[in-house]
Amino acid sequence: MNDLVLRSDCVVTPDGVVACDIGIVGERIVEIGAMGSLTGARLIDLVGRIVMPGGIDPHVHCDWPMPSGDGEAPAMTEPASVVSRAAVHGGTTMMIDFVRCIDGDSVADAIARRDAGWVGACHCDYAFHLMVEGDIAPPMLEQVGAAIGAGHPTVKIFTTDITPSRKGRMVDFGDIWEVFQVIAAQGGLAVIHAEDNDIVMHMYAKLFREGRTAFENMAEVHNALSEDLSFRRVIRLAESVKGTALYMLHTSAATGVAAIREARGRGIPIYGESLHQYMLYNSEDYKKPNGQIFHTYPSLKSPADQAALWGGTLDGSINCVATDELCCTLAQKTRGVRIDDVTGGNAGVEPRVALMYTEMVGRRGYSLQRFVDLVSSNAARIMGMYPRKGAIAVGSDADICVLDPTRRRVITASDLHETDYTPWEGWEAYAWPCLTVLRGKVVMEDGRLTGDVADGRWVSRAIDPAIIAGPVAL
Ligand SMILES: [Zn+2]
Ligand SMILES: [Zn+2]
Repeated sequence: MNDLVLRSDCVVTPDGVVACDIGIVGERIVEIGAMGSLTGARLIDLVGRIVMPGGIDPHVHCDWPMPSGDGEAPAMTEPASVVSRAAVHGGTTMMIDFVRCIDGDSVADAIARRDAGWVGACHCDYAFHLMVEGDIAPPMLEQVGAAIGAGHPTVKIFTTDITPSRKGRMVDFGDIWEVFQVIAAQGGLAVIHAEDNDIVMHMYAKLFREGRTAFENMAEVHNALSEDLSFRRVIRLAESVKGTALYMLHTSAATGVAAIREARGRGIPIYGESLHQYMLYNSEDYKKPNGQIFHTYPSLKSPADQAALWGGTLDGSINCVATDELCCTLAQKTRGVRIDDVTGGNAGVEPRVALMYTEMVGRRGYSLQRFVDLVSSNAARIMGMYPRKGAIAVGSDADICVLDPTRRRVITASDLHETDYTPWEGWEAYAWPCLTVLRGKVVMEDGRLTGDVADGRWVSRAIDPAIIAGPVAL
C-alpha cells in the first residue's frame, strides 16, 4: 500500500497530461495508475486541479551581500530558511544558489561553509553553482574540476565586473578559456553572466560625464549591444573547446536570444535562461514609483526585447524562467538610486510558478507541458538532476506542486511569505498553489506550512552527456 496517493484528472507527466493516481511510498513515486485504481494510507482528491512537478528555480541568491555605503558592512539578503519557506508556499521544491570560490580559499572549504548555512535551514531541496571570480590560478582550476565530479557540475563565470565599484568579479577570456577546458574535461556546464565589460564601463563613464546618473537610465548602460557582443564572444570561445556546454543566465535582450538561437543552429550545446521580470517588465517600468523593485542586472530592456524573450520560450532558445532571487526589504531594494549603486536581484520565488502559469497557459495559450518545462523540468534536465527532479514518473522524487485554478487572486505582498514588497503587486494570478509535496512529505497545504525548516536536502548533480553533446531540443 502507498503512503500517499494523489488523484487528479490533470497530471502533467513527461508523456503528456493524463488523469491518474500517483502512488508514493517514502520519498519516491512508485506507481502511476488509472484514476481511482490506487490505495494509500492517505488519499488526496485533486480532481479539477493541476498536478505538476514541483517548481525548480535554478537561479537564487540567499544570504547574499548587497551593495552598501562606504565603510559599511554589507547587508545580507534573507537566508535560505526564509526564501525556501516562500518557495514551498509557491509550489517550488528545489532552488539552486551559488558558492563563491575565491582565490586563496579552498573550493571544498567554500562549499562546506556554504552548505553549513543550509543544512537544517531550508524548507526545500537545494544545490549550488560554483562561482569563480577574478584571476583563476591553477590550483583553483584543479579544485573546481574535483568539485564538478563531486556533484557540483555547474560553474558560474562573469564576463563583467557589473558596476565600477565591484572590481574583481570579472574573469578575463584567457582564464575563461582555462575554466572551459576543466569544465569540458569533467563533464560540467558553464553558467555564464555575460555582459561586455568595455561597453558597460564605457556607458557608466559616459552617463556620469553627462550627469545622467539616475537608475532609470540603466538600460542604456547594461544594454542590448553588450549582450550581443558578450554572448557571441563567449559562444566562440566555447566552440573552440570541444565539450563545453553553456547556460546563459538572465538573458534579457533580443540580441541574446538571437545569439543562442544561431549557436544552437550550428550544433553548439547552449541553453538559455530568462527571468520573469525581464519577460513582463521593460525599461519604462523603471520610471514608476520605486522603479528599482523591477531591476536586476543586466537590466530591463525594450518591449521588442520582451517579445523576443517570449519568442525564445517557443523556439527553444529560452529554456528556463528563473527569478535571480535576492530577497530583501523594500527599503534595502530602493536605497540605491544611481546607475552604479542600485541593488540587483528580485523577490519573486513565491509567485513565480503561478505567475508563469497565468502568463503562459492563461494569457498566451501555451500547453501545460511547455509551461512545466519552463518552470521545472528543463532546469532539471539541463542542471543534471532529471528525472529524479522535474518529472512525475515512477522512480522520481515525489516533488509535486498542485495548482488550483479556482483560486484566482490578485498578488499582494502581505499575502506572500517573502518580504515587505513584491514587484508583482496587483498582478492577477489565474491559479494558486494549494498543495506542495517535497519527497513524499506534504510541506504546504491550503496556504498552511506543514513542512519543517530541516526538510530540505542538498541534491548531488551530474550533467547528462546528451546535454553536452549538442543542443537538446527542450
Ligand atoms: Zn548574474
Ligand atoms: Zn544572479
